[in-house]
Amino acid sequence: MAVPSLRRDKPGVAASLKAEFSRSDGRGSQLLSELLDNVLNPKRPVAEAEGLEWCKCLMAGGERFEDFCQTVRAYDHATLCGLVWTANFVAYRCRTCGISPCMSLCAECFNAGEHTGHDFNMFRSQAGGACDCGDSSVMRDSGFCKRHRSTSGSSIPSVPSDLMMMSEHILPRVIFRLVQHLRDGYSESVSDPATERDIQRTLQQMEPLVSLLEDLTKMGGAMRSILTRVLGNHQIYKDLSSGDFCTGEKTYAKKNYDKYLTALKGSGLVSSEERSASSVLDHMAGASNVTILGATAGAGQRESSDEEEQDGSQGIGKRKRVKFCNGTKDPSIVDILKHKCFLEEILFWTVKYEFPQKMVTFLLNMLPDQDYKIAFTKTFVQHYAFIMKTLIKSHESDTMSNRIVHISVQLFSNEELARQVTEECQLLEIMVTVLLYMMENCLVKSELQDEENNFHVVVNCGEPLLKNNTYWPLVSDFINILSHQSVAKRFLEDQGLLQMWMNFVSLFQGMNLNKRELNEHVEFESQTYYAAFAAELEACAQPMWALLTHCKIKDMEEYTRTVVRYCLDALQDWFDAINFIDEPSPNQVTFHLPLHRYYAMFLSKAVRCQQLDLDSLLPDQEMLMKLMVHPLQIQACLSEIHSNMWVRNGLQIKGQAMTYVQSHFCNSMIDPDIFLLQVCASRLDPDYFVSSVFERFKVVDLLTMASQHQDGAPDPEHEKSMLEGALTFLVLLLSLRIHLGMTDDEILRAEMVAQLCMSDRTHSTLLDLIPENPNPKSGIIPGSYYFENMLSAVADFKAPVFEPGGSMQQGMYTPKADVWNIEFDPIMVILRTVYRRDVQSAMDRYMGFLKQTGKFDGNPWPPYRERALLNPSYKGLMRILHCKTLHIVLFTLLYKISMDHQNMSEHILCMVLNLIELGLDNLPEESVEEEEMLGEEHCSDSWFNGTNIATNLHHIINHVRVRVPETAPEMIREPLASTSSDTTCVQRSRRATALNRESSNTAQVFSLVAERRRKFQEIINRNGSSTIHTPDVRAKTSKWTAPNSTPQLTTTILEVRESMLSLLIKLHHKLSGKQNSYYPCWLEDSESTSRLDPMQQIHGDGTTAVERILIKTAAQSRQNKFSIEEICRKVTPPIPPKKNVSDKKALDKEERRQKARERQQKLLAEFASRQKSFMETAMDIESPDSDVAMDIGSSEKQDSETVYDCVICGQSGPSTEERPTGLVVLLQASSVLGHRRRSTEPKKLPTSDEEKIYPEDTCGTAHDVRITDLQRYFKDSSCLQSVSIGWEGGVYVQTCGHTLHIDCHKSYMESLRNDQVLQSFSVDKGEFTCPLCRQFANSVLPCYPEKNEEKCLWLPCNNKTLHVLIKEVEEQQEQLGMFPVSISSVTNLSKEMESVMKDIRSTTQKKYIDYGKIPGSPDNDFLFMYSVARLNLELELVHRGGNLCLGGAGATTKRSCLNQLLHVLAIHMRLFRIDSAYNPWARLTRLTQVVDSGICDDEKPDVPLLYRDVPSLLMILALTMPQELHKEHFTCIVKVLYNLLYAQAIATFSFRFNEEEREVWKNSAKLQIMDNSEKSSEVLLSHIISELSKGNLYCASNTDQKSMITTTIWSPQSLEYSIQQFCLPFFRTAGLLQHHLFSDDLPCCQQTEEEFGMLARYLRLLPTSLNSNDEVKSFFCLDWPLPALDIVSQWCLEVTTSTESHSKQVMNLLVQDPQWSLPRLLRLPENYNTIFQYYHRKACVHCSKVPKDPALCLVCGTFVCLKGQCCKQQSYCECVLHSQNCGAGTGIFLLINASVIIVIRGHRFCVWGSVYLDAHGEEDRDLRRGKPLYLCNERYKVLEQQWVTHTFDHINKRWGPHYNGL
Ligand SMILES: [Zn+2]
Ligand SMILES: [Zn+2]
Ligand SMILES: [Zn+2]
Ligand SMILES: [Zn+2]
Ligand SMILES: [Zn+2]
Ligand SMILES: [Zn+2]
Ligand SMILES: [Zn+2]
Ligand SMILES: [Zn+2]
Repeated sequence: MAVPSLRRDKPGVAASLKAEFSRSDGRGSQLLSELLDNVLNPKRPVAEAEGLEWCKCLMAGGERFEDFCQTVRAYDHATLCGLVWTANFVAYRCRTCGISPCMSLCAECFNAGEHTGHDFNMFRSQAGGACDCGDSSVMRDSGFCKRHRSTSGSSIPSVPSDLMMMSEHILPRVIFRLVQHLRDGYSESVSDPATERDIQRTLQQMEPLVSLLEDLTKMGGAMRSILTRVLGNHQIYKDLSSGDFCTGEKTYAKKNYDKYLTALKGSGLVSSEERSASSVLDHMAGASNVTILGATAGAGQRESSDEEEQDGSQGIGKRKRVKFCNGTKDPSIVDILKHKCFLEEILFWTVKYEFPQKMVTFLLNMLPDQDYKIAFTKTFVQHYAFIMKTLIKSHESDTMSNRIVHISVQLFSNEELARQVTEECQLLEIMVTVLLYMMENCLVKSELQDEENNFHVVVNCGEPLLKNNTYWPLVSDFINILSHQSVAKRFLEDQGLLQMWMNFVSLFQGMNLNKRELNEHVEFESQTYYAAFAAELEACAQPMWALLTHCKIKDMEEYTRTVVRYCLDALQDWFDAINFIDEPSPNQVTFHLPLHRYYAMFLSKAVRCQQLDLDSLLPDQEMLMKLMVHPLQIQACLSEIHSNMWVRNGLQIKGQAMTYVQSHFCNSMIDPDIFLLQVCASRLDPDYFVSSVFERFKVVDLLTMASQHQDGAPDPEHEKSMLEGALTFLVLLLSLRIHLGMTDDEILRAEMVAQLCMSDRTHSTLLDLIPENPNPKSGIIPGSYYFENMLSAVADFKAPVFEPGGSMQQGMYTPKADVWNIEFDPIMVILRTVYRRDVQSAMDRYMGFLKQTGKFDGNPWPPYRERALLNPSYKGLMRILHCKTLHIVLFTLLYKISMDHQNMSEHILCMVLNLIELGLDNLPEESVEEEEMLGEEHCSDSWFNGTNIATNLHHIINHVRVRVPETAPEMIREPLASTSSDTTCVQRSRRATALNRESSNTAQVFSLVAERRRKFQEIINRNGSSTIHTPDVRAKTSKWTAPNSTPQLTTTILEVRESMLSLLIKLHHKLSGKQNSYYPCWLEDSESTSRLDPMQQIHGDGTTAVERILIKTAAQSRQNKFSIEEICRKVTPPIPPKKNVSDKKALDKEERRQKARERQQKLLAEFASRQKSFMETAMDIESPDSDVAMDIGSSEKQDSETVYDCVICGQSGPSTEERPTGLVVLLQASSVLGHRRRSTEPKKLPTSDEEKIYPEDTCGTAHDVRITDLQRYFKDSSCLQSVSIGWEGGVYVQTCGHTLHIDCHKSYMESLRNDQVLQSFSVDKGEFTCPLCRQFANSVLPCYPEKNEEKCLWLPCNNKTLHVLIKEVEEQQEQLGMFPVSISSVTNLSKEMESVMKDIRSTTQKKYIDYGKIPGSPDNDFLFMYSVARLNLELELVHRGGNLCLGGAGATTKRSCLNQLLHVLAIHMRLFRIDSAYNPWARLTRLTQVVDSGICDDEKPDVPLLYRDVPSLLMILALTMPQELHKEHFTCIVKVLYNLLYAQAIATFSFRFNEEEREVWKNSAKLQIMDNSEKSSEVLLSHIISELSKGNLYCASNTDQKSMITTTIWSPQSLEYSIQQFCLPFFRTAGLLQHHLFSDDLPCCQQTEEEFGMLARYLRLLPTSLNSNDEVKSFFCLDWPLPALDIVSQWCLEVTTSTESHSKQVMNLLVQDPQWSLPRLLRLPENYNTIFQYYHRKACVHCSKVPKDPALCLVCGTFVCLKGQCCKQQSYCECVLHSQNCGAGTGIFLLINASVIIVIRGHRFCVWGSVYLDAHGEEDRDLRRGKPLYLCNERYKVLEQQWVTHTFDHINKRWGPHYNGL
């Protein structure tokens, strides 16, 4: 057999080759090889169509490829879905079913699975993903869909060997061709744009080939396993890639292979990976040190040689340092990435090409094959370092990151696989090393503490790597694998890894250092802080939480101990590196202390979950003192930032403070910090701790008994705020139990309560605000069962409500009453508040609750709460409350407050009392009595004897030595004892102590700083650590006290003679404003023990707090009780007395001010409610309104002249020709009526391809068809009087009811024009808002001056006969031309009338005005004007619910301006002459000669009367009558028109009969004609049938309109009913017209059946003889001026004579149906998913693409591309375009991807909101949460109502221009 030519028929060749193979003599293989050499020749373009065709054909072995696919697919026994998707794909996640949090399902599998009631959500994939259905390592089996649940692969037969035989031989060559192409196409230096293009081309060229491979993977398991074998086989790869396989191509193959080698070498993988990888191995082999990144980071021994080059002068703190070098020379990359199979090389190239999407998808599609998955994961790990390296260099790192994670998440989420590669491929080592390597590139020297002597290095947060979060994929993988217990264990066991990890974490320790600017405002605000917070959270905290998850059981305690040890080592290293001794640099802060936090969290875990002994994990005292410094510094800085001491650093510092406490960070930042401080406080000397706190908060100077003190660093304004901060911090520290004993449930509850107390929250906000407990085992995952349960325990749900005219509320949760009563905890609120105002808000709400429930009426103090039980390990914390230092501070502050020293505040007092109370609640175990025994000699400094607060409370301090400026008031008083001249230095001198002994009763000047120093020294000495130099106290403290502050300080002795108890009682008097207000309650009555329960008095103000403390004190000892009684017995003179008076004065003044404020507020509220009621009444159609003053015009007819108020100038007066008044109106084009349909049920929004909405049956379309038909056969001018237009694009006029002088309006507009920037509307378009009610408007409608006499003319007089009246009407019509109209003599009024008409005309588009054949002809204008009247009447009818049953009572169109509008229209219409020959009036009332149709051949005939629209005729006739229209004439017109209408009804119904019926009707009435009862319907029917039969009309219709024939048989009753229904729309229009023209009240009726009779009476159509109770028949209303049959014959003749020309249209024209249902929006499905699933991937019909932002018109269902360039027409985007065509400028669109509705109104638009809410009554804009959404019918009704009533402009706020870009 010869080498087959390429041109031969492929199936034949393939079949014969296959046959050759089965002979197994090797010839087949040889032949195939030769054929493939040709087909896949590298000289031919890759993926050439011909070549691919060959491959397919060969694989199929002669069969059709499609058939082959089918066959192979039958052997698919894969149980995994594995569908791979890319970014933006919509997928699902079910928390109930998922094992891994990364689990995701494709929509198909999700919908086919059983997830009802599960906690699932929909999401838009960002990085792409794959469906996990069927993978039981990722999700529970119960969630699998039916297709992937059947795990039994047994039913599928094994693959016949010959089926896949050809593929097995061909695929290696195909894949090799791909590799060749990849090798050829690559070139380095990606930054070059030309190379970039080349690479793109290479990728494009191979795309069809990769697609073929992808198609193969989709053929199922059988094909995938072949591919796996090919990709993974070493021999195949060796044979093919080495280039020896075919002699002819030797040179090419060699070159090709060289290119590969170059790429491999040139990939420039930095040696560090290599080195570290080997060092890891070293370590495993037992080496004691780990070398990373060419740096020595091990313990001390190794770097002896380096030691010298370092600054040797510092003995301490330089134990080691990390020195980095960037070695780039190691060539061993080739060894590591030595590729042994295709899979490896293909992945290599995939990385090189930066993860082309196509390749990624192919590689992922193979994953359902288990062997492949393992091989691929190993290969991936092998290339891991290389991948990350490429990522760092990539210039499109975002895309690449996503693609990397898209792959890695599929591999590492599987625990078994992750464990395997961790063990076999050192994945953990690689990851940590690469992380270190990454950060190595962006390190800077730390400037923390001692800038020169700092050897610490930190990451530079300004580097792109950190700013762009480039490390994200790596960290994400790391966290992912650490989430597996087995992997985490492996990590914790490996000390080398731990050490490396701590080194990594320390790179973030102290990053992004802030230095307080003291002089100049910082020049530019660095925005690096976000990168810093993100880095700490993601790179440090997340892995920490992943590890902590596994340290919760006792078995793991050794691991915890190890981590704690390494943390301490790392911290020690850090302190050494930054050269830290004991004091932080002032004015520096970093929020980043990850090492501290690691230590804290592992400690907490150890104590709480593993019950380890805390002390065994703690370092020595010295280290503890160091540990507390930096976290404390942060707390102090928070206070400084809130006290505005950092203003010069700009806003960003506030941003940092907020981020630090924010819910996503607090768990990993502030909480561990506070916990660590609590630990330190519990173990350190309390005096040392307390004095440190006050020193750090820089308030030491303020804590003097003297009224003045030396000015310290903070100015007085900051001082108070800082003191508040310090005390609050102490309270917080002592109260918080988050890590000290609260259970997870208690924590969640407290968090929830805190958030709810600040403000009512929606479910999703609350979810977001509750710090996610990162410990998954706790089960408290937001959204989980626990969360929901807890929520319902603490909160009540407030369902979403809609306030009429107000905003749409979402469903909210609000605290239960008991929560306020018992659980509200201000401390928790303070901890979690980002803004200080939130604390105030919580207090305000608390006050509201107390007032409402009558618990307390004043201004309450924060309630004091009992705390959860303290874990015994931390009970040392309470010693803080019992230390002398704190008591001195408390005493001093109580004294200062009672003396009214400056810079004290209620907040300070509140915190002081809180601390005292905390002390009383947490007394030390030694009893009080014991302490009492201690003698005075213990009181070395005359302050307090012991440390127990219960004892110290009653201890009286007589004299205190203070240091004051010479100018202080204390100096004026004669000093009592001392003559000490100790002026130089504050009391730390020993002389002070000596002095103290002299006057033993004088408490010493107390210095906190000195106290702290002394204690520090003590502790250090005790530790015997002599290496620490004694800090130079003097030098350090000088930082705090300004050395040259002016007033000299002198020591003086202050007489005090107070104890804390006496001070408390004084304060009680002060707080209550009464002298001696406190009286010990136990003295009042003997059995008051019950009242001693202090917890009864939780809610109250300061006096309540004092009382509570006194009771608690008294309960402690007899001594205390006695002291209190003693103090109370002495009538203490108020101190100072005048102060009290001034207090009282101040109070009075305050009271007066308060009253004035209240008055003012009341006034404001009244005004606001008045404005609000304007708004509501203007917008709320339903509510009846009795506001007579607001009624315009009509109701004031009784007055001689209507008087209008001008809302601008405030003057009242009539509207005159010279100075007309006008109504504020909004003109808008409307197509609402055009969207009415016949059926009362709204159309359903289509949600499948089968459903469709047809526009044919809308009112707008029907009228369009009708006018076109008429215009084809009849004279144009006549046509234009036979219909109404404006159903689409008509002009609706509405008013807020306010009037203004038109000249006032003009100047108002002028003023608006001047500050246009402020307006959201465009003044140039005439837009403005009503000066009174702020309603949107755009024109002014002049009011017609009304004369009193006119009303007399309107009075009905019934004397004239119909004939006379008809004559009169005709005469007035004739006069028309001569009628002197005011418009001819130009007055101001007439000018305004003209101008508003122009406005009305320009409101709508030209196409909605010009219906005539001659554009711009007066006929058009005429038609337009009466149509405006008609439209406004019909819209009013719609607003009244479509009928007039409710009459005037329910109708509150009190803002109607129809009366005025009709005047304006009438004035303009009278300018048009109706040619008397064509005046319909004559033809309606007279028998005329039948005009010979042959007058003029080119002239078309007039429209027959039977074709004419009767309501239109009514408008024409009524509005062309002279202005003072008499009511009798109006009635006459209605009567005459009713006759015509009746005839039309009969004619219409005659067409609905079938032929036999018609015959019966025709004959049955013959008899009655004899009776001459020509009025009866039967007679007329019979007559019309016979008349119309003459024209053969019925025959034409019968054949066409079979479908019209109803199955029901017509009875006289049904005929009567139908006639009434037919006439009702006319009655309603006429009734409303009469109502507005003559201002007579509309009647009303109970039932809809009565409406006809009621309106007939109202319109005076019924004969007076008729009894009011009689049933009304339609023919009663007939009143023929001529013999009825004659005139009807004449009308029928008009039709029959002209039918020849339009026999087909007769049906449409003659058979009218004036009944329309109310306009409705489309009916929406209950579940949003129904809409979303159909529309989010639906293609637009115009551009046939799936739009990026699809939108849906809720009026007509049109699907459009929002914002899409694809469907743009002349700069108008599709949505705007549609709003113009569909709603004449108004559009309502549902944005599919956002679930939100936008409304377009002209050139503006607004986001309306959503009508779909989740189970918690919340919107989900942009579907971020992806929870199921359900239709909220109330909201949808509101939307529809706003559409129908044209009130979008008034109700919705926040309009913005759309620039036609939607
Ligand atoms: Zn699936
Ligand atoms: Zn499935
Ligand atoms: Zn589920
Ligand atoms: Zn005015
Ligand atoms: Zn107004
Ligand atoms: Zn539409
Ligand atoms: Zn489109
Ligand atoms: Zn488009």
